[in-house]
Amino acid sequence: MGRAGSGTIFFTGCNLKCVFCQNWEISHLREGRTVSVEELAAVMLALEKAGCHNINLVTPTPYLPQILTALENAAQQGLNLPIVYNCGGYESPIALELLNGVVDIYMPDLKF
Ligand code: SF4
Repeated sequence: MGRAGSGTIFFTGCNLKCVFCQNWEISHLREGRTVSVEELAAVMLALEKAGCHNINLVTPTPYLPQILTALENAAQQGLNLPIVYNCGGYESPIALELLNGVVDIYMPDLKF
């Protein structure tokens, strides 16, 4: 059990558009900011430094290529946390193949 929380990173633009979404500003309105792959890696490392117990990627799949590159970048700089994949559950077999060995915990949130 941890006390420092999950290192949650929300990605904009979820394509399910649930009417009850609690993160609708991010998922529907795409509120957020653009970051480079290097900045994303730096965010992951900062979350680890802050004591977070995992890196929790929320609605990550539309950004899969960039996330994989950022994770590799962060790992090369010492990132050593479990990776949580907090997704809608519609990932393709190809996406899951790419994630195999990278993700530690899947949280598919299938609704429809
Ligand atoms: S799948 Fe999740 S993030 Fe996407 S719109 Fe529905 S509740 Fe929001």
